Amino acid sequence: MNIELLANLSYIVSAALFIFGLKMLGSPATARRGNMFSSLGMLIAVVAGLTAEGIVSYEYIAGGMVIGTIIGALAARLVGMTSMPEMVALFNGSGGAASLLVGWATLYGGGIETFTAVTILLAILIGGLTFTGSIIAYAKLSEVMNSAAIVFKGQRFVNSLVLAGIVYAAYMFCLDPQADSQWLYVTLGLALLLGIMAVIPIGGADMPVVISLLNSYSGIAACAAGFAINNNILIVAGSLVGASGIILTNIMCKAMNRSLANVLFSGFGAVKQGKAIEGEVKPVSVEDAYYLFEAASNVCFVPGYGMAVAQAQHVVKELGEILEANGCEVSYAIHPVAGRMPGHMNVLLAEADVPYEQLVEMDDINPRIENVDIAVVIGANDVVNPSAREDEDSPIYGMPIINVDQARTVFVLKRSMASGFSGVDNPLFFGENTRMLFGDAKESISGVISEFG
Ligand code: NDP
Repeated sequence: MNIELLANLSYIVSAALFIFGLKMLGSPATARRGNMFSSLGMLIAVVAGLTAEGIVSYEYIAGGMVIGTIIGALAARLVGMTSMPEMVALFNGSGGAASLLVGWATLYGGGIETFTAVTILLAILIGGLTFTGSIIAYAKLSEVMNSAAIVFKGQRFVNSLVLAGIVYAAYMFCLDPQADSQWLYVTLGLALLLGIMAVIPIGGADMPVVISLLNSYSGIAACAAGFAINNNILIVAGSLVGASGIILTNIMCKAMNRSLANVLFSGFGAVKQGKAIEGEVKPVSVEDAYYLFEAASNVCFVPGYGMAVAQAQHVVKELGEILEANGCEVSYAIHPVAGRMPGHMNVLLAEADVPYEQLVEMDDINPRIENVDIAVVIGANDVVNPSAREDEDSPIYGMPIINVDQARTVFVLKRSMASGFSGVDNPLFFGENTRMLFGDAKESISGVISEFG
C-alpha cells in the first residue's frame, strides 16, 4: 500500500481516537479512559507522521524526544498538585511556541505560495501571542505577578496601534514571504507584545476565561501550522483543541455571567471596590463543630482552591463517609470556576475516590440549599461570596455563586480572614449563621474526624 495512503488512514484512526477521547473526558467516570484513548491517538499520529513525511534525519527528533521525555517525567513527578494550573498555562504557551517555530521553519523550504504564507503567518502570529499571553497567565497564577488587572490610560489606543501594526506588517510579509523578512520580525515582535497586552488587563476572577481562551488559541495556532506544513492530523487535532477551548471559554463566561468582550476589555477589579463589610466574626472550635456535624442530617461540602493547597480531599472524603455512616446525606457542590483551572475540584475529588453520584453542580444545589443543615466551605472564597449577588459595586457582581449563606449553618474552613483570588472581601464570613473554623483545612477536618473517634 502507498505510504501516504497508509498515513492518512492512520490519521483517521487518530482523529477518531481524539474525538472519542474528548467525549469521554466529559464525565469523571470515563475521563481516565478518555485520556488513554487520546494518548494512543497521538502516538499513532506521531508514528505515521514520522514515517510518511520523508524525514531524512532522525537524530534531532530522537534528541528532542529524549529532552521532552525528561522534562515531562520530571514535571509529572516534581510539580505539586497545587501547581497544576500554572503548568497547564505553561503547556499552552509551549504549544503556541511550537506552532510558531513550525511555521517559521516552513519558510526555509522556499517557493512559498500566498495561501501557505498566510497560514505560516497565522501560526507565527497566534503561536507568538499564545506564548507570551500564557507566560503572563503563568506569572499571575503562580503569584509571581500580582493577579489584579493592570490598566493604564490610553491602553486601548496602544492595543489598537499594535493590532494595526500587525495587520500592516503581515500584509507586507505576505507580498514577499521570506524566512529572514524584516516584516516577519516586526509581526513576530508585535504578536509577542500583543500576548502581553491582551492578558495584563485581565485579572482576579476573570482568569479562568483567559486560561481557556489561551488553550483555544494554542489549538488554532497548531491548526494553522498544520496547513502550513500540509499535515492533516495537525489540522484536525488543532481544530479540536481550538473548538473545545472556545466551548470551554463560553462555559467559563457563563459561569461568571459575563460576555467574552466584557471579560477581555473591562479590566477586572482595577477600579471598583465593593461596599465596606460590617458584622461580627464567630470562630468555632473543632469540638463545637463536631457536635453540629454529629447532629446534622444533610451536609454539603463546597470545595475551593484552599482544598487543593491543604491537600484535604482525602480527609474530606473520610469525613463524608463517617457522616454517611451516621445517617447523614452528603453531597459535594462544585462551582465551575472553583480552584485555579477548569475541572480542578473534580480532579481532586476523583483522586480521593469521592463517588460521582455525590457531586452536584451549582445549579442543582442552589434551589435546595435551604434544606442543607451544614454547608462546609473548604478553602473556597470567591465562589461563595454573596456580594456577587447583592453588591452592585462589587467587581464580582453578577457572577453566579453557590448560595451557602442560605444553608442553615455555614462552616468556613480557612486560615485567616484573607480574601480569595479576586481580592474582594467576603461578607459571608460575618454572616449570622456562619462559623469560622480557622486553620489549615486538612488539619481542621482531621480534628473533626478524630472527635468522631
Ligand atoms: P479563592 O481563591 O477565592 O479562595 C481560596 C481560599 O482558600 C483563600 O481565601 C484562602 O484563605 C483559602 N486557603 C488557602 N490555603 C488554605 C489551606 N491550607 N487551608 C484552608 N484554606 C486555605 O478560591 P475559590 O476556589 O473560591 O475561587 C477561585 C478563584 O480563582 C475565582 O476567583 C476564580 O475566578 C479564580 N480562578 C479560577 C480558575 C479556574 O479555571 N478555575 C483559573 C484562575 C483563577 P486563607 O489564606 O485565609 O487560608
